[in-house]
Amino acid sequence: MSKEQLFIFDTTLRDGAQTQGVDFSVDDKLKVAQALDNLGVDYIEGGWPGANPTDTEFFQKKHSFNNAKLTSFGMTKRNGRSADNDPGLSALLNSNTPAVCIVGKSWDFHVDIALGISNDENLENIKETAKHFVKENKEFMFDAEHFFDGYKANPNYALSCLKAAFDEGARWIVLCDTNGGTLPHEVTKIVTEVSKAIPGKNLGIHAHNDTENAVANSLAAVESGVRQIQGTINGLGERCGNANLVSLIPTLLLKDIYSKKYDISISKKDLKGLKKVSLLLDGILNRQPNKHQPYVGDNAFAHKGGLHVSAVMKDPSTYEHEIPEEVGNTRKILVSNQAGKSNLLSRLSSVGIEINNNDERLNELLEVVKEKEFRGYSYDGAGASFELLAKNILDKVPDFFNVSDYEIAIKKQNSDNKSNLTSEAFVKVIVEGRDIESRGRGNGPVNALDKALRSDLGIYDDHLKDLVLVDYKVRILNGGTEAITRVVIESTDKDGNSWFTVGVSPNIVEASLKALMDSIQYKLIKDNAPLPKKY
Ligand SMILES: [Zn+2]
Repeated sequence: MSKEQLFIFDTTLRDGAQTQGVDFSVDDKLKVAQALDNLGVDYIEGGWPGANPTDTEFFQKKHSFNNAKLTSFGMTKRNGRSADNDPGLSALLNSNTPAVCIVGKSWDFHVDIALGISNDENLENIKETAKHFVKENKEFMFDAEHFFDGYKANPNYALSCLKAAFDEGARWIVLCDTNGGTLPHEVTKIVTEVSKAIPGKNLGIHAHNDTENAVANSLAAVESGVRQIQGTINGLGERCGNANLVSLIPTLLLKDIYSKKYDISISKKDLKGLKKVSLLLDGILNRQPNKHQPYVGDNAFAHKGGLHVSAVMKDPSTYEHEIPEEVGNTRKILVSNQAGKSNLLSRLSSVGIEINNNDERLNELLEVVKEKEFRGYSYDGAGASFELLAKNILDKVPDFFNVSDYEIAIKKQNSDNKSNLTSEAFVKVIVEGRDIESRGRGNGPVNALDKALRSDLGIYDDHLKDLVLVDYKVRILNGGTEAITRVVIESTDKDGNSWFTVGVSPNIVEASLKALMDSIQYKLIKDNAPLPKKY
């Protein structure tokens, strides 16, 4: 049986851009569009040419996509004007995209209240707009705004709006749940009825997520006949967002019920880039990625409970619905105060430490982890500190160095009406029984401390040359009677390896020092640096 083609239409750059707090630059748009094309979507809706300078400039750029058709967005012609004379439609034609998507009314209530024109005038405007673009050889799509609400209120009129565009040669008629209040069983019923008038191969779905059913509604629409799905990366979109393509695409590719019936232009190989695309958008928007996002979130394949972990170790399919690598994600085994021994064992084996289930030292390590987590440590996001802790307890790996004293001074000086804030740190380090005193100056106390610490570590200096601190996160925790600070540091080396370390203390400088020291110790172990000679 040959499969039918489903078409993926991305509207991140148009509908997604309507989100509160989202303000794409032209460069941002170019980056996202490129990533979408690489992923393999069929259509990229780039924005509304003429509506704002960013979108106008975006469409003026030279675009060459390997997979996607660039689509410009606009609205049906103004009432009482010919299509040829409508500046909005001209802006779309000038944008020179192979496809155009035009939104229009299909709910008589909106025709009356929002447009203030007659039902027949609205039909005429849809028809003339479709004719105008089809004549220019554009792939024409009609976005039927509020279609589901319109259909419930007046099915005959809503359908006649679709027919007005379809009969003039529209390639796609897109059914929009603009308010996002339609439920899956209603989508099934209404799409089934619509597909008697317009073939499913010409129908699309555009669902909003106001009842958290945008993905379910899109799938229900596919099952009832539509062959184009509109959505956005990470479900970006106004109010509660649009249908999330990052959930829909893997579902269509990986779940038999869809993959056996339909082809999409995204390959399983391209699917491995999905998490990257999701992170790219978060990065551009300066948003914290949603750890719990299906398929691509950091926690989508994370296992914490002891029972789960022991089962996952035997066979991942016990607690995983798909293989994380399919979407570019990875399995994560969390060590936590709920951890049973099996968590510890698998986490240890992931850092190359093999140890027998019945080994006494395992209990000791478990106790230490629990006690530390009680005091505010979290090893979920600090694998390197966990590895160090384990090595210290299991293998009695000594500390390469120790800090015996430190002092920090913060100076504020006023000169030329500018105030200058500098920090100076003094540290006394013990390496192989020898005291080394050094100083460092920085823009803040932690920076100064880091410089002082690394300015002279005796025999270990060579190993620290390529150590770079790339991220520093502080969290204030309310533990018991006092506030304590947890610092997590991300470090990298010249080979691009990165590792995370954690420090906890009531004092932010002390917490930072602990995380810094862990980072350096970890690097020394990784480099196979010589153990300190005993004195
Ligand atoms: Zn929308």
